[in-house]
Amino acid sequence: MTLRTLDSLGSLEGKRVIVRCDLNVPLRDGVITDDGRVRASLPTLNALINAGARVIVCSHLGRPDGAPDPQYSLEPVAQRLSELLGKPVAFARDTVGESAHDAVTSLEDGGVVVIENLRFNAGETAKDDATRQAFAAQLAELGDVLVSDGFGVVHRKQASVYDLAELLPSAAGLLIAAELDVLDRLTEKPERPYAVVLGGSKVSDKLGVISHLLPRVDRILVGGGMLFTFLKAQGHAVASSLLEEDQLDTVRGYLAEAEKRGVEIVLPTDVVVAASFSADAAHEIAAADAIEETAFGASGIGLDIGPETAARFAEVIRTSKTVFWNGPMGVFEFPAFAAGTKTVAQALTEVDGLSVVGGGDSAAAVRQLGFSDDQFGHISTGGGASLEFLEGKKLPGLEVLGWA
Ligand code: ADP
Ligand code: MG
Repeated sequence: MTLRTLDSLGSLEGKRVIVRCDLNVPLRDGVITDDGRVRASLPTLNALINAGARVIVCSHLGRPDGAPDPQYSLEPVAQRLSELLGKPVAFARDTVGESAHDAVTSLEDGGVVVIENLRFNAGETAKDDATRQAFAAQLAELGDVLVSDGFGVVHRKQASVYDLAELLPSAAGLLIAAELDVLDRLTEKPERPYAVVLGGSKVSDKLGVISHLLPRVDRILVGGGMLFTFLKAQGHAVASSLLEEDQLDTVRGYLAEAEKRGVEIVLPTDVVVAASFSADAAHEIAAADAIEETAFGASGIGLDIGPETAARFAEVIRTSKTVFWNGPMGVFEFPAFAAGTKTVAQALTEVDGLSVVGGGDSAAAVRQLGFSDDQFGHISTGGGASLEFLEGKKLPGLEVLGWA
C-alpha cells in the first residue's frame, strides 16, 4: 500500500483541517534560533489555504511534563508562521479547551490557527492506549480531517500522530511525501560506499540503531555524546564525559559484529576535553586513550571530536557516494566546541553523490555554522524518524496513513 496523499481527501473548501506539523524548533530565551521546521511546513499549509480550508495547526515543542509550561508555548512559533505565510495566524492558549474551540469556530475559509503545545496534555505521549485515544478523541472534535505532516515524529506512536489518524479521514502532507522520496533513495540500492555519521546527545536512542544499520552500510562514523561509550568499551577512561555504562556490552557486540561483516566503524582518535560544560570553559585536545590525562583529570568533559578525528572523518565522508548524517559531533552551540561539526558539515557538501543531513539540532547546526540548504542533497526535518526509516523499521505514523 502506498501513502494516502492530500488529493485523497477530496475538496477541502470550508472544511476544518487539522494539520499535525513538527514545529519543534530550537529556542533560546524565547527566540527561535532556527526556523527550518516552520519553513518546511509552508508548502502544505499554503496548499490548504489556497484550497479554502480552515487550517488548525498543531505540534509539540520540547519536552514539557504533560502539563502547561510557559517556556514551551508555541506562541513564538505562531508569530513566526504568520510572518512566513504573510497573513494573520490566530493562537489558541490551550490545545483542546475553550480557547481552541473558540478559535476554530472563528476561522474563515483559508484562515489559520495554531493551537497550544500538544504535550501540555499527558494523553499525547501516554503509553496507555486508552489514555492516548481519549486525548485523540478530544483533538478530533476540532476538525473534519487530518493532514499528517510532522515527519520528525512519525516514528512515535502518539495521540496526534497515530490515534487521531484512525479517528478522522487522514492523509500525508507534502513534507512527509518529500522526505520519503529522498529516504527511498537511501534505502533502495544506495550507491556505495555508503556511510552513516552518528553523533548528538540522545545516546541510548541512537546506539540501538547501529545493530540495524550494520547489515546495510559500509561505514559508521561515531562522534558526539555516544563516542565515549565506544571508547570506554575499548577500555579507555573517559573522565566525566557522557557515558552509557549499561550499554558497554552492547557496544562491544557491535564492534565484533562490524568486524565480522566488514563494516568499518570509524572512532575518534582525539577529542576536545573541557573543564566544565560551558561556553567559555578551559579546554585541551587529548588523545582518545588519554582523556583523563589533561589538566582537568577525571572531571574533564569531552565536548567535541579533535582535529585529527575531524580530518579523518572528512576524508571518509568525501570518499563515500552516499552519506547520511544525524547528530552534531560536539556541543556546537558553544563556538569553542563547534569545529568538529563544521568540518563534517563541510565534507558533506563535497560528497560526489547523495548527502543527507537529518535531525532538528543537526539541521540547526549546519545553518548556524553558515552552510545553506542547497549545499546538501537534502536536509531532513527528522533525525530519529530518518534513522528508523533507514533501519527498515515500520513507522506507526506512516503505517496509519496507508504506507507499508
Ligand atoms: P538531532 O536533533 O540532530 O537528532 P540530538 O538531539 O541527538 O541531535 O543531539 C543534539 C545535541 O547533542 C546538541 O545540542 C549538542 O550540544 C549535543 N552534543 C553533541 N556532542 C555532545 C557531547 N560530546 N556531550 C554532550 N552533548 C553533546
Ligand atoms: Mg535534537
